[in-house]
Amino acid sequence: TAVATEELIIPPVQISHTQHLINGKFVDAASGKKFPTYDPRTGEVIAHVAEGDAEDINRAVAAARKAFDEGPWPKMGAYERSRILLRVADLVEKNSEELAALETWNNGKPYEQALTAEVPMLARLFHYYAGWADKIHGLTVPADGPYHVQTLHEPIGVAGQIIPWNFPLLMFAWKVGPALACGNTIVLKSAEQTPLTALYVAKLFQEAGLPPGVLNVVSGDGPTAGAALASHMDVDKVAFTGSTDTGKIILELAARSNLKPVTLELGGKSPFIICEDADIDHAVELAHFALFFNQGQCCCAGSRTFVHERVYDEFIEKAKARAVKRVVGDPFKKGVEQGPQIDNEQFEKVLRYIRAGIDSDATLECGGGRLGSKGYFIQPTVFSNVKDDMLIAKDEIFGPVQSILKFKELDEVVRRANATRYGLAAGVFTKNIDTANYLTRALRAGTVWVNCFDVFDAAIPFGGYKMSGIGREKGIYSLHNYLQVKAVVTPLKNP
Ligand code: ADP
Repeated sequence: TAVATEELIIPPVQISHTQHLINGKFVDAASGKKFPTYDPRTGEVIAHVAEGDAEDINRAVAAARKAFDEGPWPKMGAYERSRILLRVADLVEKNSEELAALETWNNGKPYEQALTAEVPMLARLFHYYAGWADKIHGLTVPADGPYHVQTLHEPIGVAGQIIPWNFPLLMFAWKVGPALACGNTIVLKSAEQTPLTALYVAKLFQEAGLPPGVLNVVSGDGPTAGAALASHMDVDKVAFTGSTDTGKIILELAARSNLKPVTLELGGKSPFIICEDADIDHAVELAHFALFFNQGQCCCAGSRTFVHERVYDEFIEKAKARAVKRVVGDPFKKGVEQGPQIDNEQFEKVLRYIRAGIDSDATLECGGGRLGSKGYFIQPTVFSNVKDDMLIAKDEIFGPVQSILKFKELDEVVRRANATRYGLAAGVFTKNIDTANYLTRALRAGTVWVNCFDVFDAAIPFGGYKMSGIGREKGIYSLHNYLQVKAVVTPLKNP
């Protein structure tokens, strides 16, 4: 593993917001409790944050309810809502270094990546949904009989949103952008590992003139604050991103309470298929990126690399060489490609999977252990000779562990790629258009990337088949999650 040596590039960053944002004010937890949040480079505490539970959720929901029922938000002109989102996008751009630094400090992802990819994407998402705010409208419907029929697309109400720790800023934007554009009010619960950037962006919304109560942010644990939000009787919709197991709980809580509609973006075990005619060097680089990006902590990670038998040996050599060259180290250093895993729990879990891989008949090509003695760094790890029934080929590892499998026929690889409970994404590498067309249609996944991977855009929908989720986020599709359709029927002529 290549270890970074360059100097640190930490921009000045202060942790200014650690309280909940409720009804336009930063406030302590009702219980007065706080919980520590950590720097994954060292495991050291960087701040103590208000710890929300059911009572904080009650207060936040009451504020969101009032802002929805009494206004001004849903009743405000759509153009005015749009302009607030645009102002937030500008403030994100203005504060991009501080935002990126805070994200890196709390999450461990490379600062250069946060600054050049995630923060610009955050601003882009707000721009995109600002553009939709004043373009949401219903239809005039030609019905049988003498009636004037129209549909009104109305905001759904109070949206509860629960997000994970792997992309704290982007998950915030995917949820908040469309909900606000449609005129909803929000209670968002951030992940307990990464509460800081959500509060920072919430502050930017206040600066941009968002009325009090429209966006409320509560920090805290899943089984307490998260569960209270999913089961709240006054919440009209819940959107969740996280593990499949927790997604099932959320759906159950929503059903047991008030049957609020639920969108879920869950786990994955995405196949990345390299055909015999692919450009091997390009495929190696992208398969590497598809798995190792964000410390392997991506729900759509290309975590089953299927390689055609004719190019398999060459691919293994090159994939191994690429992983060995991967620069791992302090995410604030220049040129670092991989920082630490998020916390000790994830770190231990990934190491357990690596041991399971070593104990099976898979071949460990490189890596296989922790890096250094401090923080949660793991060596980029590559296994070859992986078989479909091995644990490392079935479970979502969520770490820097690449599993390479061999295939011979296209029908065979389709069958094996689809033989999973997940269906979030897939990658296809070929120069043959017939092969590409065949695979893109045969794979059961919410996204198929052809000769590319992890191409994200505000306009491209994202979501899963099977146990990878329900519904789609981003693009026009996200608007449907946050709108009710009301049919209005009026006789053309009264008797
Ligand atoms: P991970 O295993 O990656 O931490 P989770 O699905 O547990 O993923 O967490 C994603 C989000 O779901 C976090 O904000 C977490 O607090 C929340 N969460 C976890 N458990 C529950 C629960 N029982 N009810 C509601 N939210 C939960």
